[in-house]
Amino acid sequence: MPANILLVEDEPAIQELIAVNLEHAGHHVIRAKDAEGALGIVRNALPDLLLIDWMLPGISGVALARQMRQEDRTKAIPIILLTARSAESDKVAGLEAGADDYVTKPFSPRELLARIKAVLRRRAPQMTDDPVEMGGLRLEPETHRVFGAKRTLELGPTEFRLLHFLMTHAERVHSRAQLLDHVWGDHVFVEERTVDVHIRRLRKALEPSGHDRLIETVRGSGYRLTASPA
Ligand code: CA
Repeated sequence: MPANILLVEDEPAIQELIAVNLEHAGHHVIRAKDAEGALGIVRNALPDLLLIDWMLPGISGVALARQMRQEDRTKAIPIILLTARSAESDKVAGLEAGADDYVTKPFSPRELLARIKAVLRRRAPQMTDDPVEMGGLRLEPETHRVFGAKRTLELGPTEFRLLHFLMTHAERVHSRAQLLDHVWGDHVFVEERTVDVHIRRLRKALEPSGHDRLIETVRGSGYRLTASPA
């Protein structure tokens, strides 16, 4: 379950310690030392999860979390706040700002990794290794395999990620920009037409079992995966 994690921490030693531990666990870590830096990174590409230190110079971690929650594009990014403050009122303030979880310093790397896993499972099921099933279509993240009506279907890596996202967010219409953000992590440097190309490839890959029917084009809006195609 490797995730792109944006770590916002101003203290170099702590930043290094956390980053090394997360990378050791297989995650990809992008670092920022303040909220402004983090906002710049997020503008270009959405991370899978934000790990934000409460006490930052300038805009505080809580204010950054609140800002993320207010914008449509970033409101669904899972957020964990790191803090040295353990008072109950601080915890409440953090959660009210929109954080999904709250980890008090000092914490063990193991605890942090467990929290990250739990938050991803809850908020971003496409990031976990749990198999997903729908209308006879089964996707297994751990083995990277897809079965349609019990036969193995061949998917490229992008089509696999796209299908994983659609299956874990089924019955909803996703715009091309949203799919770029969630599947490619990037909505600025990748053209929206790219989505159409990969949807076409995905449909072709699902054809042998007839599951290509589950992917609907919603005119003017985007794409939807549905268990009951029209
Ligand atoms: Ca700090």
